[in-house]
Amino acid sequence: MTLVVPETRNSSLNRTTLELIAAAQTLGVPIKVVVIGVGVEDLAREISGFDVAEVIVIHHALLESYTADGYIAALVEVIEKESPDRIFFAHTYQSRDFAPRLAAKLNRSIVTDCIGIKTGERTSFVRPMFQGKLHADVLPLGDNPHLITFQVGAFRSDKLIRGVADAPVRHVDVIIEPEIIRQSAEAPFLESRRKVDLSKAERIVAVGRGIKSQEDIVLVQKLAQALDAEIAASRPICDVGWLPMDRQVGSSGQTVQPKLYVALGISGAIQHLVGMKGSETIVAVNKDKDAPIFEVADYGVSGDLFEIIPALIDELEG
Ligand code: FAD
Repeated sequence: MTLVVPETRNSSLNRTTLELIAAAQTLGVPIKVVVIGVGVEDLAREISGFDVAEVIVIHHALLESYTADGYIAALVEVIEKESPDRIFFAHTYQSRDFAPRLAAKLNRSIVTDCIGIKTGERTSFVRPMFQGKLHADVLPLGDNPHLITFQVGAFRSDKLIRGVADAPVRHVDVIIEPEIIRQSAEAPFLESRRKVDLSKAERIVAVGRGIKSQEDIVLVQKLAQALDAEIAASRPICDVGWLPMDRQVGSSGQTVQPKLYVALGISGAIQHLVGMKGSETIVAVNKDKDAPIFEVADYGVSGDLFEIIPALIDELEG
């Protein structure tokens, strides 16, 4: 059995939950989803509509806000009763905070940051290494359950299978002594409101560190204009302020699915790929012919963007 532990922030169904259940469904074994928090009944009911065996609700006043100690105490109890073979989490800031500690407490293996699952005689998990230059198949060792965290965007939520009937929702009580909780929750972090919604763009021209200087962004803007496209960027470009944060594509930026995505001087780190690999046609320009971006590109140009962009603009405007 696979136990899925989604994030229940705002008690609403989020994309990572759908992706985690879709990931678990690829294994073809029973799935239980454990929903933690206060006021999560509607969320549990919504999840029960997917093809899962059961939804377990852990409701406790001390779990109203996330704390690592509270979550670990609640989960250890449920995991010991349920004896899952593996436990899936999304690779979010919250899971990264408590999942390794949970693994240590259970004395079990954890594989983090995964982007795929390989089934066979034994199930292994694919994880990028060396900035995405290599993908390793990792086989967790030791007794079950193994804990696995998945990158946001690694699985597609549109592949999620709905159940023929709603799965049962079961409430379980857990004992949590207040003195075990050593953290206190602060006001949740709120992302700044986005002015640009790249998710609706039909064409996107995205630029990465290959551009070298802020002045040269103008060149990319000209190409975007010629293609009637939105401009976007990899994270380092937004981090240094060459383009605003709401132009960032990737795991900590926006997820886009345009008809055309042109990636200029972007290496193709997994955190970027998860935000754009669903694009219909991907064109990549990179002077390193082994750059990982070429693995997802439909058309690849191995060359210098300072030569290729002006040539493209000439062609489009000429
Ligand atoms: P680089 O990796 O430095 O690549 C630059 C590329 O330009 C190279 O491939 C090089 O060959 C090419 N190049 C250089 N000169 C030229 C030229 N003249 N012509 C053509 N090609 C050239 N990244 C994101 O993009 N989005 C995110 O949301 C995101 N979230 C992250 C979240 C976390 C928690 C972490 C740890 C990282 C995140 N990152 C994100 C960063 C990510 O890991 C990479 O560091 C980043 O995507 C690299 O950006 P880049 O491809 O522009 O730069």
